[in-house]
Amino acid sequence: MPETRLVVDLDAVAENYRRLCRLAPGTTIACVVKADAYGLGAAAVAPVLWSAGCRTFFTAKLDEALALRGCLPLATVHVLEGPGEGEAETFLAHDLQPVLNQPGEVERWADLARRLGHRLPAGLQLETGLCRMGLAAADLDALRPAWLAALEIRLVMSHLACADEPDHPLNEQQRTRFLALAARLPAAPLSLANSSGLFLGPAYALDLARPGAALYGINPTPGRANPMLPVVTVVAPVLRVLRVDAAGSVGYGATHPVAPGMRIATIGLGYADGLPRAAGNAATAGIAHRTVPLVGRVSMDLTTLDVTGLPEDAVQVGTPVTLFAGPDGLDACAVAAGTIGYELLTRLGRRFRRVYNGTGHA
Ligand SMILES: *Cc1c(COP(=O)(O)O)cnc(C)c1O
Repeated sequence: MPETRLVVDLDAVAENYRRLCRLAPGTTIACVVKADAYGLGAAAVAPVLWSAGCRTFFTAKLDEALALRGCLPLATVHVLEGPGEGEAETFLAHDLQPVLNQPGEVERWADLARRLGHRLPAGLQLETGLCRMGLAAADLDALRPAWLAALEIRLVMSHLACADEPDHPLNEQQRTRFLALAARLPAAPLSLANSSGLFLGPAYALDLARPGAALYGINPTPGRANPMLPVVTVVAPVLRVLRVDAAGSVGYGATHPVAPGMRIATIGLGYADGLPRAAGNAATAGIAHRTVPLVGRVSMDLTTLDVTGLPEDAVQVGTPVTLFAGPDGLDACAVAAGTIGYELLTRLGRRFRRVYNGTGHA
């Protein structure tokens, strides 16, 4: 029996990177590989992006960056969470560039630079409307000139709150605030756009963009056709086909009725693997070139499908079932489960055997 597996198409990742490069010529496309490349495995994905031409990467955490450094010795690596207490030396030892988000981090990094007697490279994040990370106008007032003088500012960035809603007025407000705040700092490459931000047009692409989701096949333009190639599918063999012989229900909580003659196929994955429990009675799966509904609740290790409409010989023990197939498969499953592709993707757990197809070379 074939194993249940998470299949990652590395050629599609590389092609998605190239598409983003073509979308914004003149903009450096840096790749966000935080959360283990959104759960796909940074050790496999990052070298493919490097081969496709990417030289600049972002992680969220220091330990993600240390792992990335192990497979990409020459890349420029920015870490979105700046150095915490006692971490500055580790950043330096591995040539990792912190994104400094608050005055204390600027001070810590500048202190290290002063002790070393030379300037240290860093990115600065500006707060422009997300109210999360980044230096606000008052923080800029509080920065000592000596701190700034100790930095070699390689990047000035901010992050959009509503990039996936092109008509949202906050996009333009954030862009305007960003440019005004950045003008108070020494000249440096500017970065505002995530995946969706790149699709807001050249005014948002600026010098460097930081896509993550789009590389991994999530639609950066919700409501319009997905301009990216899908990257991830889950393939699971049917474990059992049950022919219902009496009226009743399927699954925990008896949420979905069944009638005599119906056939229910069970696959061996569930919410412990990262398929949302809420996908039950909501999402669909592919089997034998047809789309069938998930019926009953998704349980920890098992998920049930209504295959009544398919010929009996098309669905047997071992027949492969595909989740997330097609250009919008991942996003559609996420929406059906009341979440977004990002959350679904990053939660596909370690329980899957991961299979990488392709090499990333065109
Ligand atoms: C995660 C993240 C990104 C990438 O966003 P996508 O929407 O996945 O393209 C870019 N910038 C920052 C600051 C992030 O936290």
